[in-house]
Amino acid sequence: MSITSQAVQEFRKRLQSLSGGRPVQLVAVSKTQPPERLREAYAAGLRAFGENYLNEALDKQAALADLPIEWHFIGPLQSNKTRSVAGHFAWVHSVDRLKLAERLSAQRPPALPPLQVCIQVNVSGEASKSGIAPSALPALAHAVATLPRLRLRGLMAIPEASTDPHLLRSRFAQLRALCGQLQAQGLALDTLSMGMSADYAQALAEGATLVRIGSALFGARSPQTAPERTP
Ligand SMILES: *Cc1c(COP(=O)(O)O)cnc(C)c1O
Repeated sequence: MSITSQAVQEFRKRLQSLSGGRPVQLVAVSKTQPPERLREAYAAGLRAFGENYLNEALDKQAALADLPIEWHFIGPLQSNKTRSVAGHFAWVHSVDRLKLAERLSAQRPPALPPLQVCIQVNVSGEASKSGIAPSALPALAHAVATLPRLRLRGLMAIPEASTDPHLLRSRFAQLRALCGQLQAQGLALDTLSMGMSADYAQALAEGATLVRIGSALFGARSPQTAPERTP
């Protein structure tokens, strides 16, 4: 399946109608896709790409250095990878510990603008999942907001895989409510990073401002490389 500008335009229209006309940031999740596919996607009008695996992302960034792509790191983050992430991405969606945030802030190169970050929240409560527990979120968010080289933009979540639209909506609604609480406490958050290929309609209905879309744009990946939530 090749990506055409018509397909991208139609997809953006669909996002906007599901969001009730609010603008929606579209991050194309390009993990496992070779650089030529990203080049094709860029030519079709996509500008922001999301990657989960650092080494794979760095290889693609080198191959696509001529394009002004906005790179988003969306995968699980390890302390020993923060320096590369801080130097090579515009956004990180998966901050879930203060130590990671402190390292990203300290290691963000001075020549680059502040790193845009979202805190990942474990809204489904699954023990195996990344993300901070909702009860611990306020303390983390207020601490991250003070770090000089980060700009805390909002929250990110990946609910459990489910075919129940009501369950999915309740998870996304929870993330929106958590964001609202933090805003009421004075944090200037503007981003709800929620919604993937299978659940973006529910996420947009609950106020997503940014969706992370892989297979609906690029076609199916092999099963080993499915999102974190898939066994
Ligand atoms: C893979 C992945 C996505 C995109 O998944 P699709 O189902 O292909 O849209 C979004 N977010 C994260 C964190 C992912 O790992």
